[in-house]
Amino acid sequence: MSKGLLIVVSAPSGCGKGTVLAEVLKNDNFYYSVSATTRAPREGEVDGVNYHFLTKEKFEELIATGGVLEYAQYCGNYYGTPKKAVEDKLCEGRDVILEIEVQGAMKIKEACPEAVFIFILPPSVDTLKQRLEKRGTETAEVIEKRVSEARGEIEKAYNYDYVIVNDDLNEAVSDFIKVVEAEKLTVRRSRQLIDNVLGK
Ligand code: 5GP
Repeated sequence: MSKGLLIVVSAPSGCGKGTVLAEVLKNDNFYYSVSATTRAPREGEVDGVNYHFLTKEKFEELIATGGVLEYAQYCGNYYGTPKKAVEDKLCEGRDVILEIEVQGAMKIKEACPEAVFIFILPPSVDTLKQRLEKRGTETAEVIEKRVSEARGEIEKAYNYDYVIVNDDLNEAVSDFIKVVEAEKLTVRRSRQLIDNVLGK
């Protein structure tokens, strides 16, 4: 069985990435990697589903024991990708989605260059600010901080393989699926197919 695709998805917060991914994940072959974090759960978030919510000490222990594929600090908290689940699912042939910020994504690019990197863009920075305000889960001060971080993050989109603008949800979801399908047909991932046709 061939290994699944490692898909790294980044987007500034408030750009609707969660909604796009929720739709994408209705397809059973995708596996969503549940990250570990030291930030407090937001209302409605469930431990083990949205994140593994850890104390700073537990998180640092995970780093020290090599349990994370990557980690980063974002807005004063640790976020990291638990290694084992990702490796197991890829070996089962599942396409694994890492929803991570840009510093972590660049670490994955070094460690796993075969991964595919997708950046989800908001239609504009203004739309992003409005979406954050509408969500109402952060204070005005945190929103300002997130908008200014978002600008810096969008600058990093140049380092990704694909960009998807989340203006219309259905289009964004369809673009995501197309990217994954096209990526699987690239020659670097399909050498076996050519060999088979040539009887090698
Ligand atoms: P939030 O606090 O809004 O859930 O997430 C803040 C940022 O951390 C988002 O950009 C999210 O993609 C990112 N993030 C979530 N999990 C991870 C992770 O495991 N590693 C890294 N590097 N970033 C993550």
